[in-house]
Amino acid sequence: VIPAIKAERPPNFDQIVEAFPDAVNPGVIFAYGDTIYNPSGGDLPAPIIAHEAVHCYRQGEMGYVPGRMNTAIWWNKYIADPTFRYEEELAAHVAEYVEQVASCLADRNQQAVLLMRTARRLIAPLYKYGDTFTLQRAMRDITRVYHGAEI
Ligand SMILES: [Zn+2]
Repeated sequence: VIPAIKAERPPNFDQIVEAFPDAVNPGVIFAYGDTIYNPSGGDLPAPIIAHEAVHCYRQGEMGYVPGRMNTAIWWNKYIADPTFRYEEELAAHVAEYVEQVASCLADRNQQAVLLMRTARRLIAPLYKYGDTFTLQRAMRDITRVYHGAEI
């Protein structure tokens, strides 16, 4: 199932911007329920759709998610709990990484660049984690989840 895409603000835009002021910037994309919200408009690249689809899925409106999750609960938790936020973004960034890594499996350097670029986005100031999550940890976590095993 693929989420719908709308060129408008998500229903809880004010709640999001209060917590993450940078979310007003052009190009920031949002997931709410079964819909991806792209207020800036324009086509979304496949890796971004894959990223947001993970959020939609884990918000619980598109399939079963353990723990009686729904979109409002997910957003409240996402805003209040940096560790939950990091885990949700980790899952979404791995999906983004998977979408792109196929094109550079033969090139280790290109793969390393992609990993670093994805890790940088995972710990971007937008998400306001504080100093808890380093680039090194983000790279390690993406690699671990990508390979589906603990390292
Ligand atoms: Zn995300």
